[in-house]
Amino acid sequence: MDAAVMYGPGDVRVEKREEPRIVEPTDAIVRLSATCICGSDLWPYRGFDALDWPAAMGHEYVGIVEDVGSDVTSVRPGQFVVGSFFASDNTCEICRAGYQSSCVHRVGVAGAQAEYLRVPLADGTLVATPGIPDDDLVPSLLAASDVLGTGWFGALAAEVGPGKTAAVVGDGAVGLLGILSAKQLGAERIIAMSRHEPRQQLAREYGATDIVEERGDEGVERIKELTDGLGAHSVIEAVGTQESMLQAIRATRPGGHVGYVGVAHGVELPGQELFFSHTHLHGGPAPVRNYLPELIELIWNRTIDPGRVFDLELPLREAATGYQAMDQRRAIKVLLRP
Ligand SMILES: [Zn+2]
Repeated sequence: MDAAVMYGPGDVRVEKREEPRIVEPTDAIVRLSATCICGSDLWPYRGFDALDWPAAMGHEYVGIVEDVGSDVTSVRPGQFVVGSFFASDNTCEICRAGYQSSCVHRVGVAGAQAEYLRVPLADGTLVATPGIPDDDLVPSLLAASDVLGTGWFGALAAEVGPGKTAAVVGDGAVGLLGILSAKQLGAERIIAMSRHEPRQQLAREYGATDIVEERGDEGVERIKELTDGLGAHSVIEAVGTQESMLQAIRATRPGGHVGYVGVAHGVELPGQELFFSHTHLHGGPAPVRNYLPELIELIWNRTIDPGRVFDLELPLREAATGYQAMDQRRAIKVLLRP
């Protein structure tokens, strides 16, 4: 089968690999209908994370179940399924508390930028859709696999709700879907921090009421101006740098909440500032599995349209072009068709 493999920074190749097969009785094999490139795939691509090269890439996936192991009972061949980047049993105490991405049996999923994928712990990981989706729903269901689920978690972690002002740091796919999530969860006002016109446009369509182009301390000042000098109730941090994290904390009012879902790289927090800020911090790898049934329903009945973050679609064999487009910010998010 074809699969995208990263050989080192800036070096993605599509090559022939052996098709995966059932290894554990709890596995499923999924024939992928669509997959995509994640903002987090850019960290190794840009040389900020070292992987075990060559590394099979991809952790976002939807497709048709091809085969299941003997212990799998909740999904069967022929069903269309959505999964996420951590396989989980969905039965342990941590899963039952809603933190499947910290499941005591969690397994990281990799190699989804391919024609077939082996998914461990299939019963606890995969969620079947009500039927085979119309083609135009596939990008939105794929978004649920990571970026939507992550934006949703960011909004919940930031305690977004009716009557509140939310601010979103980061205008990548997760930030944009954080805006969609904040809108869906009832935020009264949503401030998007973005300086890129096409992204500002989508941010507004997803529910942003205000756009702040300034960054750093200036961006914080602008948010305070928009919130009677207090700061936002809820801030979603969707980047993961020192600057974006401090921007998020400083843009939050005392008693407010930061939901941080950008994978942190080199972030160090000043303890005394944190102490006096009175902000709640919560975040981490999103427990997407927890939200999949609800998100699939919202997509299935066409209440939300998160798939619009995919502004470039390529055949899998052109994955390298997709990485370049995202690296150079020519595309928000690239969908790959195996
Ligand atoms: Zn678990």
